[in-house]
Amino acid sequence: MLIVMRQSASDHDVQKVIDRIESLGWEAKKIPGEERVAIGVLRNPGQTDPALFLDIAGVRDVIPVSKPYKLVSREMHPDNTTISLGDGEVVIGGDRLVVMAGPCAVESEKQALDIAREVKKGGALLFRGGAFKPRSSPYSFQGLGRKGLEILAKVREETGLFIVTEATDHDVCDLVEEFSDIIQIGTRNMQNYRLLRRAGQARKPVLLKRGMSATLDEFFMAAEYIMSEGNSQVILCERGIRTFVKHSRNTLDLNAVPFIKRESHLPVVVDPSHAAGRRDQVIPLARAAAATGVDGLIVEVHNDPDRALSDGPQSLYPEQFSEMMQDLRRMNIAM
Ligand code: PEP
Ligand code: MN
Repeated sequence: MLIVMRQSASDHDVQKVIDRIESLGWEAKKIPGEERVAIGVLRNPGQTDPALFLDIAGVRDVIPVSKPYKLVSREMHPDNTTISLGDGEVVIGGDRLVVMAGPCAVESEKQALDIAREVKKGGALLFRGGAFKPRSSPYSFQGLGRKGLEILAKVREETGLFIVTEATDHDVCDLVEEFSDIIQIGTRNMQNYRLLRRAGQARKPVLLKRGMSATLDEFFMAAEYIMSEGNSQVILCERGIRTFVKHSRNTLDLNAVPFIKRESHLPVVVDPSHAAGRRDQVIPLARAAAATGVDGLIVEVHNDPDRALSDGPQSLYPEQFSEMMQDLRRMNIAM
């Protein structure tokens, strides 16, 4: 249920609504809007009588919220959420398409810095790179761990790029929170509820990747776990889903973008690299994603992909990344 206040409502009126909700044993969530304040009611059982609130001064409307993903839903929060990094230097969910780029994994300081300089030149605003890698094989490179995070901090210092990097489990979340600007949760962990709750307690935005076989309802409920712990800074990432095709690693579900935008106020980012699994499809998918009005792209770039320790075949060469950015600029939707 959403209680919408009049523009003229005072802080006192808003507090009275919150007190009433709490006196019923439910949870109140204040949602400041561009025009007026609204208060979301959480943990209320089933149908609730609007008359419980309509007598309070300043209340304009009481709207039932039908979706189980209350905080994620646009019913509860009609305005788009924007996520701001630094002093508003980068805004995700604003007017401009934000590009995050870098290698799948941080392999060395030189590798990370060389690639970071290239992607910065191309126009990326964030550097991506895993320090903890969730690999299908236990024998594959698992990431540099803490050392990788220290390298990422150096990348930020030297280039000014913001950092997005993955927390693969609950135990590394403290470290990742400390070093990153955005905490990534990978496709394999979309339903790792303990990790989602921990990310919900973080004071950094979370980029949540869609599970490779997840429905959008499941994706929204995963985001709800994060938000229900108090972190409203969630970015939803479509990265391709498992289908029967052999011509790509996954199938990029671009239908998801307009659907998510309709259902949710959260920013949406597309990852064409993990969807494609092969370099030749990444730029066309990036262009297509941009055309859907997505808020950002996260793209793998490597300066020596043949020797990359993970995801080389889908990594763009730096020159290709620059071409992609030029294409996006020509489409007049990139910065
Ligand atoms: C990654 O970003 O390198 C990654 C492992 O992504 P995903 O979780 O989408 O497979
Ligand atoms: Mn990867």
